Amino acid sequence: MSNSINGSSSINSYFHSKTVYELSCKHCYTVVCNRGMKAILLGDTRVELYSTDSPPSGRIQLVDKDYMTCNCHCKIRDLACLVCGNVIGYHVTHPCETCLESCNNGHFWMFLSDSVIPRERLDSSGIFSK
Ligand SMILES: [Zn+2]
Ligand SMILES: [Zn+2]
Repeated sequence: MSNSINGSSSINSYFHSKTVYELSCKHCYTVVCNRGMKAILLGDTRVELYSTDSPPSGRIQLVDKDYMTCNCHCKIRDLACLVCGNVIGYHVTHPCETCLESCNNGHFWMFLSDSVIPRERLDSSGIFSK
């Protein structure tokens, strides 16, 4: 509803698919995910997202309603920051076949790039396995 996209998001000029980000809530600066990766919405490549395969615990909360995305047939549920209550992303509760086939990386937790502050995590060894 209030997911207005103000075209002023600062988009990084580089794209490292394997870069791992620590994500903080833009509203209250709580770290909501420490293993996020940059992702692009399949149906709308203008939307930048951060996805993770490991659900953060204790920092976020699912809003109690499933709904269908506009772009495909995934069922998703909004994800709110537990500290400030703002919606900062969504969780794919029932991925559709298209998405299962095209993004079979198990990343079903999405954070809106407009709602989180990413901080690049550089592993000292240069390797961040899985
Ligand atoms: Zn889908
Ligand atoms: Zn918050």
